[in-house]
Amino acid sequence: DLTVGHTSSSIMPHESPYPPVKIPVRPYHELLLDSIDKTIAEGKNKIAFISGDNPNYSLSYEQLRKDAFAVAVYLHNIGFKKDVAAVVLPNVWHYASFFIGCSINGGAVSGASALFTDYELQRQFVDSRAKVVLTYEDFLPKVLLAVKQSPNIQKIIVIPKPVGSSLPSGVVSWHEVVSTPVTALPQVPIDVHNDLLVLPYSSGTTGPPKGVMLSHYNFTSMISMYLAIDKSHNLDVLDPNWDCYKEKALLFLPFYHVYGFGLLNHCILKGMTGVVMSHFEPNNFLTAVQNYKIRILCLVPPIMVFLAKHPICAKFDLSSIQMIMAGAAPAGKDLIEELKKRYPNMKYIQQGYGMTECSMASHLPDLRNNQPYGSVGKLASNLVMRIVEPGTDREQPVNQRGEICVRGPTVMLGYLGRPEATASTVIDGWLHTGDIGYINEDGNLFIVDRLKELIKVKGLQVPPAELEDLLLSHPKIRDCAVIGIPDAKAGELPKAFVVRADNTLTEQEVKDFVKPKVSPYKQLEGGVEFIEEIPKSAAGKILRRFLRDRSTAKL
Ligand code: AMP
Repeated sequence: DLTVGHTSSSIMPHESPYPPVKIPVRPYHELLLDSIDKTIAEGKNKIAFISGDNPNYSLSYEQLRKDAFAVAVYLHNIGFKKDVAAVVLPNVWHYASFFIGCSINGGAVSGASALFTDYELQRQFVDSRAKVVLTYEDFLPKVLLAVKQSPNIQKIIVIPKPVGSSLPSGVVSWHEVVSTPVTALPQVPIDVHNDLLVLPYSSGTTGPPKGVMLSHYNFTSMISMYLAIDKSHNLDVLDPNWDCYKEKALLFLPFYHVYGFGLLNHCILKGMTGVVMSHFEPNNFLTAVQNYKIRILCLVPPIMVFLAKHPICAKFDLSSIQMIMAGAAPAGKDLIEELKKRYPNMKYIQQGYGMTECSMASHLPDLRNNQPYGSVGKLASNLVMRIVEPGTDREQPVNQRGEICVRGPTVMLGYLGRPEATASTVIDGWLHTGDIGYINEDGNLFIVDRLKELIKVKGLQVPPAELEDLLLSHPKIRDCAVIGIPDAKAGELPKAFVVRADNTLTEQEVKDFVKPKVSPYKQLEGGVEFIEEIPKSAAGKILRRFLRDRSTAKL
């Protein structure tokens, strides 16, 4: 039964309740550079970034621009054109100048998790056809291993220059790149609708991670909508005299994911100072909130759990926080209530919703009309949405569940080199999200289930197909299926159901087999259960719901 409440007449497809936004038809990096120029010219904020790991380090807006130009010329000189550059970094500010430098050449950045193993990196390097890799010296050994199997990679740039050590052939130091003399910038005509700006990886509704082709126009649309709604429906409500030049943005959500990347861009476009944290470290995070008197925190639910429950939080003054905006995974009502109780100054605890395939958020909170608990906000400007009965194209009325489909200028061009996956995900311009939800009479969206197979651990994607492929390569495994099981801290954890080809196979053996091949957050922390047969449909599709129910029944 898909009905969740009373049903009223429908007005579909739904249009955004937010005012439409004019989208500049320009290369995206020009918007960033204009904004950087303005921030520098007005002299209101000199500092683009401060290190959240060590506040003695910072980078000025002038240096950011200088580095971006040097990167642009360096890449041009080595023959990098409308190509892809892979980035394997924790959150460091070099990401921003490198991204701008790539974009000036008409190239796109494809971010990978710094936690990825050489096995995971190699797959992305090959699939993205990347020509260049930017990485950090700690990760150079695994990047070199991955590059061995990726003949397309021609150059590796490493931060910082490993002191006293000579670099292997094909590797150049960041220092050398940003020391490139700049007499003129490369002049590359950009087709804003078709040229790629970023190529993040997402498994979408099914299968392995795929390169999500986002154009300049996709991202410009996203950021224009985000800036407009953020101002009129968030900042203006919190404080009509909000001065972004004086505010700091905490940048710890990974830049390789659209959410963290969007926040990095938002920070630069607003002329704020970003406090860049290589990763989430409780002490650094809490110290930064306290010392910089952070008012808005953009988070993922596991960090909300941390704020709500961890005793260490009581040692810090977090009273500056007025608003929490969560995204990337569901945040439950109990969690929100717990936070409100612990931090009475938090006036707004809201959620947004989105997907890599639509450049970041498709739904954003509306502080003017306080969102009800559990809602993920309203459809962002310039988008239209349908909620359809899964498997059919029948539109669902208000208050009735269905698959959320979104159309508009933020929807990806497609998956790189995968026309079939693209065709089954974007149908007549409609992005099929694989999420089940409904909207109420006020246009608030509620997510209630996930139709797709994706598992989200701490807001990060764990594609079951990736783990299943890996497990099937084990000689003692005949068949398998991986699902997400609920977890209070991480949101979900991957659990494997395994059909043994050899009864001596143990749970530990399976876990140990997976361990070195995939990132820590993809480990089988949800356990391994041996099963006689994997339930499948007549068409051979794994019946994941059956496994999920079986797992829940055992709890
Ligand atoms: P990604 O492409 O990694 O951003 O993942 C997108 C997916 O994350 C969505 O399709 C949802 O399944 C899930 N997601 C994102 N935001 C929310 C939210 N606020 N509530 C529930 N699920 C969410």
